[in-house]
Amino acid sequence: MTQVEKARLLKLLYQYRAMGFEYFKEYKPVESNNTMLPSDFNSLKSSASDCHLCNLSKTRNNVVFGDGNQDAKLMFIGESPRAGEDESGKVFVGRAGDIVTNIIEKVLGLRREDVYISNIVKCRTPENRVPTMEEASACKSYLMQQIEMVKPQIIVALGSTSFHHLTGEYDTPISKVRGEVLNLGNAKLIPTFCPYFLLRNPSSKKEVFQDMLKVKSLL
Ligand code: SF4
Repeated sequence: MTQVEKARLLKLLYQYRAMGFEYFKEYKPVESNNTMLPSDFNSLKSSASDCHLCNLSKTRNNVVFGDGNQDAKLMFIGESPRAGEDESGKVFVGRAGDIVTNIIEKVLGLRREDVYISNIVKCRTPENRVPTMEEASACKSYLMQQIEMVKPQIIVALGSTSFHHLTGEYDTPISKVRGEVLNLGNAKLIPTFCPYFLLRNPSSKKEVFQDMLKVKSLL
């Protein structure tokens, strides 16, 4: 059973439980060739907002789907929502959000709404821990569909979790690949440090600045 089929089954079971059912003797899947996620943003967002595909659904307040220009040349992908995002449902708010906005506006010379921004997982992790492999894998189909629909020329991986799950190179530290121009499908992938890391290590902003100059030269 594919991840999408599992998501649909789980959603159906939640609906039945809400109706008062507690037990099924047997589940017979409905034959369908349509196992694709929705290919328009509203439907995909709506599908994610009701997702229970991993345990993070039990502790989240809001699914943080991501937002921005759906035809953006540039896409930023972070790790996971934090408290402010979980409360608001918006991606990269607060001090880390200010860093992202400053990078886009002051370094790249774009408006924030020109860029599409999302995360590896759409729900906050308890204590802001790194998402598990299971959580990231469960959520990946939403992100892949977002990338497929936006078709960015350049993807910036914000931090090691983003780089690891986008590339599958789990043993490569972000410090080794930061600022390199890599290939990811039809897009160029440029990894850099995560805004939350920069809040703890402001001296690393200069490296991110250099990485963003490289992004700017490719736009
Ligand atoms: S993190 Fe992703 S897969 Fe897990 S419940 Fe949230 S939307 Fe679904």
